[in-house]
Amino acid sequence: MLDFKLASSQQAGQPDTEREGDRVYDLIIIGGGPAGLTAAVYAGRAALRTLLLGGATPGGQIANTDRVENYPGFPEGISGADLAMRFQNQAEHFVTSLANDFVTEVDFSAAPFTIKTHSDTYQGRAVIVATGAFPRRLGAPGEKEYFGRGVSTCATCDGFFYKDRRVVVIGGGDSAIDEGLFLCKFASEVIVIHRRDELRATKALQERAFANPKMRFVWDTMVEGILGQDTVTGVRVRNVKTDETSTIETDGVFVYIGLIPGTRIFAGQLELNEQGYIVTDSHQRTSVPGVFAAGDVQSPDFRQVVIAAGAGAKAVLEADRYLAETASSYA
Ligand code: NAP
Repeated sequence: MLDFKLASSQQAGQPDTEREGDRVYDLIIIGGGPAGLTAAVYAGRAALRTLLLGGATPGGQIANTDRVENYPGFPEGISGADLAMRFQNQAEHFVTSLANDFVTEVDFSAAPFTIKTHSDTYQGRAVIVATGAFPRRLGAPGEKEYFGRGVSTCATCDGFFYKDRRVVVIGGGDSAIDEGLFLCKFASEVIVIHRRDELRATKALQERAFANPKMRFVWDTMVEGILGQDTVTGVRVRNVKTDETSTIETDGVFVYIGLIPGTRIFAGQLELNEQGYIVTDSHQRTSVPGVFAAGDVQSPDFRQVVIAAGAGAKAVLEADRYLAETASSYA
């Protein structure tokens, strides 16, 4: 896992010399993925006294992505971990304070806003929420029991363990196919189990997948249970058209059935849509003036690194404007 190195920045919880004892930041950024890390760079450039609460996985989802081929500036593509590291290094140059701390509670009822973490409480005159989204779980029997013992949501982390073995990938989107192709480097066979008879993944990925001799597709099929003893041995599946059930033997199950937003702690504080994503306007403003949101946590439609990064930048430009407009209330 990547880790924040406290280089030129201050460690959160230790007041900086500039405003000793003052725990109220201009801006608190929650989330250390592309949106949060880009926001940190822009906040530094805007000379805002900023705390970045990076969470448990600095770099966010891209840190667990094999290759990113569509981020501008890297014509040959770049590994997700390398790109995450570059984002992070750049953010470290600019942000005032940073911490890998987990936010447990927020109070957005009045500014300055209060953010509680496992170890501390902070206040910010403005907040950017960039907590991203997380792999959705199947909810089938055996999934929880065998998680880490054959069930995974990260091919980049666990693919190596399946050298010359058969694995199944559940899902038909970009993640399933991208990660399935990555698994072909190790596994003897990669069986993609999809609930429909056509993939949602982009055409370029589909073409690569169909051309890969290690990939096989099981269409119109739902996984209804994960079987095993100490580790996974198979999946129980049902064909949704014929209702026939059967078992597919496998050593590993990789679940890529979409994402859910990291908004649990914001329920009741910010307006969320029916899927739980934070509602924002085109300027990244949430339902609470002074609180902004950027990246996958507010945008279920695109989920691209470049879009998350752009939204992080926009959120800071808007936060800076908000802080200038409300500065008199702190004078
Ligand atoms: P996604 O696009 O939402 O695809 C989820 C897949 O899982 C769909 O095929 C869906 O089936 C299936 N699914 C959903 N719920 C299911 C359930 N309960 N049981 C079985 N199957 C289920 O999610 P994603 O693939 O994680 O991609 C998320 C976003 O990230 C997308 O916008 C994608 O373009 C982007 N992304 C981009 C790249 C890239 O640019 N290289 C890589 C990865 C992800 P249906 O098709 O029937 O709905």
